[in-house]
Amino acid sequence: MPEITTVREHLGWSYANLACAHSALGAGSKKYGRINYIIRSRLYKGLISKTMSMGSTFDDEKIKYQYPKSCCYCGSRDKLHMDHLIPRIKGGEDNADNLVWACRSCNSSKGGRDVLRWLEAKERRPSILLLRRYIKLVFRYCEENGLLNMLLKEVVNQDLPFDIMALPYKIDDLENAQLWVLPND
Ligand SMILES: [Zn+2]
Repeated sequence: MPEITTVREHLGWSYANLACAHSALGAGSKKYGRINYIIRSRLYKGLISKTMSMGSTFDDEKIKYQYPKSCCYCGSRDKLHMDHLIPRIKGGEDNADNLVWACRSCNSSKGGRDVLRWLEAKERRPSILLLRRYIKLVFRYCEENGLLNMLLKEVVNQDLPFDIMALPYKIDDLENAQLWVLPND
C-alpha cells in the first residue's frame, strides 16, 4: 500500500481499489488476480500525477436506466424516493449526480447521516457502482473546496458533508461484494 498523506492520495487509493474490485467482479471473478492489481496501480499513479481522472458521473447515471428501478441500498421496490447520497442538510447538491433511488424505509432510516457510516451501522455494504458514484462526488467537493492537496489529518477534523475516513481502501470480501444491488423480489 502506498503512503497516504494527502486527501488526493486518500481518494485516489480508494478509487483505485474500487476499480480493482470492479475489474474482478466485472469479469465474473471472486478473487483478485494480477491484472486487477495492475489496473489498481496504474490508476492510482495516474490519479496522483493527474494524467488520469475519475471521469464524469455519466457512466454512473446510465446505471439508473440499465438496472431495474429499486432501492440502491437494499433492493426493495417499495415506495421509492429520490435520496440525496450526500445529505442535503449537510450541503449535498440537489442535482442528478447526487440523487439515487431509495425505498421509504432506507430513506427515513438514513436521514441526514453519512451514507457509508449508516450502512456500516446496518452491517450492510454499498455496491461497487454506488461507491464509485459516491467517491466521485466526494472528490468533486474536495476539488471545488481546494482540499485535494491538503494533509488528510488536517481535513478529518473539518466539518465536511461526509466522513472522509469512511471511504474504504481494499475491498477484501469479493465473495460478498456486489456490482449493484438488484431488486430483492
Ligand atoms: Zn431500501
